[in-house]
Amino acid sequence: MPTSAKKEFPLHRPSFSYNYSEFIGIGDNGHLWMEGCDCAELAKSFGTPLYVMSEAQLRHNYRRFRDAFTAAYHSVEILFANKSNNGLAIRHIMNQEGAGGDCFGYNEMYLALLAGSDPNKMALNGSNKEPAEIELAIANGVCVNIDAMDEIDMIEETARRLGRETHVGVRVKLELPELKDHHSTGVHHGAMPDIVRHEKWGMTYDQAVELVERIQNSDADLVLHELHFHLSRLDNQADAFALMARDMVRWAAKLKDDTGWAAPCIDLGGGWTFGRKEKTGPRGGVDDERVSSYEVYGREVGLAVKDECKKLNFPLPTLRIEPGRAISGPAGISIGQVGAVKDWPEKGLKWVNLDLSGNHVPWITIPHHYHIVPVNKAAETPKETVDIVGPICTHDILGSSREMPELVRGDLIAMLDTGCYAESLAANFNAQCKPATVLVSGETAEVITERERLTDVIGRFRVPARLLGASQALHGVLN
Ligand SMILES: *Cc1c(COP(=O)(O)O)cnc(C)c1O
Repeated sequence: MPTSAKKEFPLHRPSFSYNYSEFIGIGDNGHLWMEGCDCAELAKSFGTPLYVMSEAQLRHNYRRFRDAFTAAYHSVEILFANKSNNGLAIRHIMNQEGAGGDCFGYNEMYLALLAGSDPNKMALNGSNKEPAEIELAIANGVCVNIDAMDEIDMIEETARRLGRETHVGVRVKLELPELKDHHSTGVHHGAMPDIVRHEKWGMTYDQAVELVERIQNSDADLVLHELHFHLSRLDNQADAFALMARDMVRWAAKLKDDTGWAAPCIDLGGGWTFGRKEKTGPRGGVDDERVSSYEVYGREVGLAVKDECKKLNFPLPTLRIEPGRAISGPAGISIGQVGAVKDWPEKGLKWVNLDLSGNHVPWITIPHHYHIVPVNKAAETPKETVDIVGPICTHDILGSSREMPELVRGDLIAMLDTGCYAESLAANFNAQCKPATVLVSGETAEVITERERLTDVIGRFRVPARLLGASQALHGVLN
């Protein structure tokens, strides 16, 4: 039975006294709740630091994004960017929702296939693909977006050897002249066209022509599937995405004139973001309620593609979108427990240490990225301004100058919007173990990633025999 014919998993909206999002808010007892679970209880049951994902919020975000784009355009495929959250359970949920997937590397693609993702709705992206990766894609019918001239040799050889029809796309390096006055609000600095010009991604127009012609003339069974472009955190306003979409259509139309190939699908990548009324969205104060909603993104991009196609007499292509952060980000939180609290009253400084660190929420380097909620004192009025810090030996400022109620050892703190690029980017600096992840669904909470143990962190270390032989430690161990 096709996924679309299945009955959708029902989502029951809880009622909160304050909503951070549809399924995360402050409950009657003044604690932070996710769906039907008190986050203080989750911390007690599963320990801290802890990642928590809301299944309903994840599904809701996906559906809202999908509906926004399908309302605006007749043929849309949403490919969840797996790298934003690689959890196997997350991928299963995305599959149940009918989402495709954008994959980087063998392992991400393997995980998605293992979870039963539909290969027809998957794309393999990457600037330096390995032969094994290309083979996994071709053997399973995943579209390979070519991003280097000699990648086509590997693809042809593999397609011939496996005797498989192979879908390929070309990742392009758009020039984006209309975005010259747009500066990235993301992690990259500078004007959009300069960022694209200087980064490793994408083929120039002439290279794209050469690739298309080679694919057209190949004796391997290659099918040209899509034109692909992605620019990380293009902007937090839909008009930048709409201008990018127009540039994509112009490239597609020019390619049609020069090669005869009319791209049946254009893939506009990810970078779609979200804002938070608390002014602590992904880019701090910049990402607030003024950030384009999913609905505005969908409408403006849909209109731009239709309009530009009409102008250039180009047949309307299927639109592929690869959102990562916009779907998974607001579906997850990270919980830490308060330990040492230190102050310097004369200077008005106070530091609240958590067991959660910058290893676990790596985007703390973007100031004010995450909204911070005192889990068990969520409804209390803030009394003081503190720095929330983690335990590792960097400055490890998780949130500077945050207004908080008085916090004491044992209190719990949650950082919102960590469903993307937290677990998937987590590090082991100071030989720290990574947190467990719990998936909440209504009143149910289940571990979907086990807490890392010291053996996981140090298990690959080896001491050469000559060092061990000369080491005091050896005697210590033997004693
Ligand atoms: C990272 C990436 C995405 C997802 O980006 P988000 O900013 O999380 O939406 C999508 N497509 C490609 C090719 C990417 O590299």
